[in-house]
Amino acid sequence: MAYALVINSGSSSIKFQIVDPESSASEDPFVSGLVEQIGEQQGRITVKHNGQKYVVQRSIPDHKVGLEESFGILETKGIGPTQLDISAVGHRVVHGGMVFSEPELILGPVVDMIRDLIPLAPLHNPANIDGIEVARELLPGIPHVAVFDTGFFRHLPPAAALYAINAEVAEKNQIRRYGFHGTSHEFVSSQVPGLIGRDPLHTRQIVLHLGNGASCSAVENGHAIDTSMGLTPLAGLVMGTRSGDIDPGIIFHLVRQGGMTIDEIDNLLNRQSGVKGLSGVNDFRELRAMIEEENGDAWLAYNVYINQLRRYIGSYMIALGRVDAITFTAGVGENDQQVRLDALDNMEMYGVKVDPERNAQPNDGPRIISTDDSTVKVLVVPTNEELAIAQKASRIAKQLA
Ligand code: ADP
Repeated sequence: MAYALVINSGSSSIKFQIVDPESSASEDPFVSGLVEQIGEQQGRITVKHNGQKYVVQRSIPDHKVGLEESFGILETKGIGPTQLDISAVGHRVVHGGMVFSEPELILGPVVDMIRDLIPLAPLHNPANIDGIEVARELLPGIPHVAVFDTGFFRHLPPAAALYAINAEVAEKNQIRRYGFHGTSHEFVSSQVPGLIGRDPLHTRQIVLHLGNGASCSAVENGHAIDTSMGLTPLAGLVMGTRSGDIDPGIIFHLVRQGGMTIDEIDNLLNRQSGVKGLSGVNDFRELRAMIEEENGDAWLAYNVYINQLRRYIGSYMIALGRVDAITFTAGVGENDQQVRLDALDNMEMYGVKVDPERNAQPNDGPRIISTDDSTVKVLVVPTNEELAIAQKASRIAKQLA
């Protein structure tokens, strides 16, 4: 069987999976691994395979050592990348700018082109490049493919992509809506027409990716026409720790009146805000438990979250004109039935009717949760970004073969 190796390299961590591209979204990967605390005194590698978990603690000075060590652990079990039939390596790359929409075979200039996009993703793209360079060195004989988080949104209509700020300044600084989580939005939205029995070229839908990060998109006939994240993944919905949309004037106010630095505000809006900023916790299971204990802050945080989600759903319904499906995905969207009920509450007059019994079924694969007479179908479709990257990478490898 031919597998794909999927690598998601961060600044101090590497997540990787060895996946059968033909598997289903809810299946466990053949192997999954996590290298943490790269560059710190003590690092850790965790590998999972066949229901077993192996943990190694040691110092991991850089990404190369992290991947080498991980591959070494796999080799002792007979499942190292060079011992298996790996047909492709897929790399998650956060920012593809205006350059990349499709997955790209990584040959000579591609890494430099990703490097040129570092100003747009100063934390993510350098870490992605580290992962690419190390993996290409360790596995030189296998095609490496970059899959971009922004790719699915590369061709947003200008009216949705442009910000109403001075055009010269915007162009000089490459400021526009890029969107993120594109791999997930594409993976999920491509399954919906089959599930509701519609032609993909005549399906208008809204996808709600609600995880720790959260974003939504409007997709018309297979093409994204709007999305909630912007120049950066900070925009749009209220998230676990990110604020989502705020009045940009708040930033000036925090500098001028609050005496905060730009880095402090960056940290505030990305890591100390969202549901966590309002309630103290970012995990929805904890938030739900606090609401049940009648914690007022948790209740307020939840309502702000739902209110913002409904604003976006409403505006995308108008943007699409006719909506065939609204789909929930990712950790919160797949598991929190109350969020789904509240997000679509009182929308019967727009043709949206969630069936409470179907909605209460446990998370078990793609399913429809609306009533039979709901004109807008409501679905839960588990996402699996690694599997989507594996599929894209192995498709490109097949074209080369
Ligand atoms: P990430 O954005 O990190 O990829 P995920 O899509 O894995 O996030 O979602 C993680 C979040 O999903 C958790 O922080 C938690 O809020 C939520 N979550 C996971 N399982 C459940 C559950 N059973 N009920 C409610 N929320 C859940």
